[in-house]
Amino acid sequence: MHIAWIGLGIMGSPMAHNLLKAHHHLTAHTLEQHKLDALAAHGGTPAASVAEAVRDADVIVTMLPADAEVTEVALGKGGIGGKEGKEGKGSIIEHARRGALFIDMSTVTPRTAVTLARAGAERGLRVLDAPVSGGEAGAVEGTLSIMVGGERADFEAARPLFDVLGSTAALCGPHGAGQTVKAANQLIVAATIQACAEAVVFLERSGVEPAVALDVLNGGLAASAVLDRKKHAFLTRDFTPGFRIDLHHKDMGIVTAAAREAGVALPLCGLVAQLVAAVRAQGDGGLDHSALLRGVEKMSKRGPAA
Ligand code: NAD
Repeated sequence: MHIAWIGLGIMGSPMAHNLLKAHHHLTAHTLEQHKLDALAAHGGTPAASVAEAVRDADVIVTMLPADAEVTEVALGKGGIGGKEGKEGKGSIIEHARRGALFIDMSTVTPRTAVTLARAGAERGLRVLDAPVSGGEAGAVEGTLSIMVGGERADFEAARPLFDVLGSTAALCGPHGAGQTVKAANQLIVAATIQACAEAVVFLERSGVEPAVALDVLNGGLAASAVLDRKKHAFLTRDFTPGFRIDLHHKDMGIVTAAAREAGVALPLCGLVAQLVAAVRAQGDGGLDHSALLRGVEKMSKRGPAA
């Protein structure tokens, strides 16, 4: 397969490198030149524009920050029918071959996923929304969980790629369903991080050794992937991202908007969204989402962050 990859960030870089290791032909475009240089050193082909990257591709993958970037790269500046994308670098819809499969693996709203699918269909593109969970570690290890929305035939066509990138891939329903499942994922992850952060502060302030406590908690019903993967950050206060608070703030906005459209009330989601917003407003948006711990510490006005 000839793959075009747009977006070589914390997630996109290791995912693209895994596809190269699996002997796929990959052409990539991203904003940072050093990421393109690193890709070239591993056998990938750098492209100076979206147009150049997608022109000959059978499969096009986007791994971009949010709705605005995905919409611009896919449909052009200002959306469908708008001007060419960033700095006149072209858009997927203008330059992809008819029949190409376009997979957006970024986390965006279900509504944007449906818009991309409709716009793609008008130009003869097959489109899947396929956001992921598992973080940077999952991207590096090729063990992501991939939540897919779209047609079954397109899902089956994408399966060889999903098998390289992840250990679980499921077709969750029609276009947008993958993003709906990802929104639910982000609600669960944020609420779990907040609960774990509160537990850590509570344990420390009660005079209990948190490392011992988190280990024993992780052997019982309180066990979670969050405790596994974020324990080190909680204990050392090393909040190097990982997954930035800024991106989780974006995702809580997605859950809130999608829940409103579905007509459901999610009270815990509302509370956790505000706690994420508070940590971001205090200047911690660039830290890993385990930095929700800093918000808990500030509320109790003691500890390292007070
Ligand atoms: P990132 O900010 O590290 O990377 C984004 C990349 O997109 C950058 O390399 C940037 O150059 C590129 N980009 C932005 N605008 C562009 C444009 N117009 N043209 C070409 N390239 C452009 O983000 P990330 O952490 O890799 O996350 C990517 C997506 O995956 C987000 O939607 C995020 O919510 C989701 N996600 C992230 C994680 C995580 O742990 N980081 C986990 C699961 C899902």
